Amino acid sequence: MLPRFNVTVSYIDGKTINEWQEATKATTVLFYLESPNSWTYELQPLEEIAAFARQKNIITFIDNTYCTPIYQNVMDMGIDITMQTATKYIGGHSDTLGGVLCGSNAQMKKIFDTEFMTIGSGLQPFNGWLLLRGLRTLPMRLERINQTTQQLITFLDQNPNIEKIIFPFHPSFDQYELAKKQMKAALGLVTIVLKNKTRAAIILFCESLKHFLMAVSWGGHESLVIPRCAFIPENLFDPNNESHRHIRLYFGLEEVAYLMKDLEHALDISAQK
Ligand SMILES: *Cc1c(COP(=O)(O)O)cnc(C)c1O
Repeated sequence: MLPRFNVTVSYIDGKTINEWQEATKATTVLFYLESPNSWTYELQPLEEIAAFARQKNIITFIDNTYCTPIYQNVMDMGIDITMQTATKYIGGHSDTLGGVLCGSNAQMKKIFDTEFMTIGSGLQPFNGWLLLRGLRTLPMRLERINQTTQQLITFLDQNPNIEKIIFPFHPSFDQYELAKKQMKAALGLVTIVLKNKTRAAIILFCESLKHFLMAVSWGGHESLVIPRCAFIPENLFDPNNESHRHIRLYFGLEEVAYLMKDLEHALDISAQK
């Protein structure tokens, strides 16, 4: 919609402050961030970006869904507005949609009175009730998922059928130090690449998992798996393009041993393909 109002956007990788400085024009009014993102988890240096934006009178806005405010306190780093999809961890049961926007009273009042009233959508009372109920167990659910994630990453690290693990708190992650600096934990979502490069092996792995549903979204009680190749037409799949072989796992609230056994079995089967 926005180009009709002469609003333009520059897309950048965003991993270093220099990129933000170079892309900033005299007309820039907003930096839109997502750190980490939800497939390959690249981070943006939030404190540096917020400080630079302040100098230039640019508003900073972040999608903080991956960490939630429990594991990444973006306001303390100087970010102006934070957005969460409540559909994920806050709801926690994959049974409602919703979102939360937080900022200063003045900013929220302006957004509420204008944009929200014009093009926003209202939440039904029942969905609000479900989200409040989810919120009450959010810290415990995240703690559990954090522990499960750590154990399963250790397990995946030792599995001979895995070529690569992409995860912000994995020592191989190129922004590991920044992750530890600005996040209290990384959890739930992990992307893996199998050693076996075929599309058939990826499909076999995903279909052999019995306790991971194949689905998009995440943040609920059930573990999920989604391969990138599900979005790529079969004839365009390129085994030499690593991103085509990404498989994203989401760890839910099930027992660790139950998930570990399932992963081990599916990895064994797919390696034989
Ligand atoms: C899922 C997701 C959204 C969209 O959330 P919905 O509530 O499903 O519309 C936005 N940002 C991130 C990071 C997400 O993972």
